Amino acid sequence: MKTNHSFYIDLAVYILLAVALAVQTSCGKSSEGDKASADKNSKSIFAMNTYVTVTAYGDNAENALISAEDKIKSLESMWSVTDENSEIYAINHSEGQSAEVSAETAELLDFSLEMHERTDGAFDISLYPVLTAWGFTTEEYRVPGDEELAQLLGNTGVEKILLNDRTVQVPAGMQIDLGAVGKGYAGDLVAEDLKKNGVESALIDLGGNIQTVGTKPDGGNWKVGIRSPFGEGNFAVLEIGECAVVTSGGYERYFVQDGKTYWHILDPETGKPAESGIASVSVIGSEGRLCDALSTSLFVMGLDKAAELWKNSDDFEMIIVTSEGEIYITEGIEDDFSLSENFSEPKVSVIRR
Ligand code: AMP
Ligand code: MG
Repeated sequence: MKTNHSFYIDLAVYILLAVALAVQTSCGKSSEGDKASADKNSKSIFAMNTYVTVTAYGDNAENALISAEDKIKSLESMWSVTDENSEIYAINHSEGQSAEVSAETAELLDFSLEMHERTDGAFDISLYPVLTAWGFTTEEYRVPGDEELAQLLGNTGVEKILLNDRTVQVPAGMQIDLGAVGKGYAGDLVAEDLKKNGVESALIDLGGNIQTVGTKPDGGNWKVGIRSPFGEGNFAVLEIGECAVVTSGGYERYFVQDGKTYWHILDPETGKPAESGIASVSVIGSEGRLCDALSTSLFVMGLDKAAELWKNSDDFEMIIVTSEGEIYITEGIEDDFSLSENFSEPKVSVIRR
């Protein structure tokens, strides 16, 4: 059995601090830069099961980074599924009793329930026991039988979660996991914290999930590499202003058994790894939590349903790489997207409204 933990060690997105171009993006804009190059400060920590690096520019950067680190650690301690002191752990071991949670957790739970509706059930935070059965939580991988999966699916279903202000109640036997949305929301909250502390230019990298504050310190756009789901390297570069870019792919965590690959993004209907013909999805938008929830659920939904959801929305853009290696991008990022030199072979199709 082969495992892959590049999720931990290999950041999916590389930032190229290169020449600034004045390009309008879907979620932020740059004016050609004339700000003097500012002090750069960076902090890297291991949190939320990944490497998090926050880079901030300007006079206030150093102090702001101390606060940003505290914020990340405090969010991790609330949302960890394994930390016995976390709010999620308390919910998962409440045996059907109600639990009080922080404002941030209540907000994220409420948002997750909303995303379940918006994605027609593809986004489902109640799959933790099913993920455990596959070994994705312990790395003791196995393929559960259909009967076992059917039994586990009897205890899932976010419609059974009762949320009233900051009080949450989940039925005994149900366990929730915010792994598909927590890093995105952490990006939002850290960006907010940096701004509160006087930072106007910053880049937050949560294991490849990118969230920016403002533009580059010289006023130009950030250049974000989009990782190829088929191997090392970036297949494309995206120019963004103040924005989030979040990618999900089967390559992030998987195992191979009897020649078949099983990955960590599950179809809530079957309890099995989603096989929708997508290799990776990147979602671009102003809200990190939305991009994160969508990147996971669009992977489950597949190209056609993802395109339909995009056509009926105005708050995100996307880049989809199919299992065949075709690339689809939505029209809102057409001018900001370019294939990397080494990856100029594949055809790029633009999805239009
Ligand atoms: P991401 O890397 O954001 O795509 O999140 C993947 C993680 O979300 C997995 O490791 C699981 O913890 C969880 N997950 C898997 N399938 C789903 C799903 N259909 N809806 C919500 N969360 C999921
Ligand atoms: Mg996600």
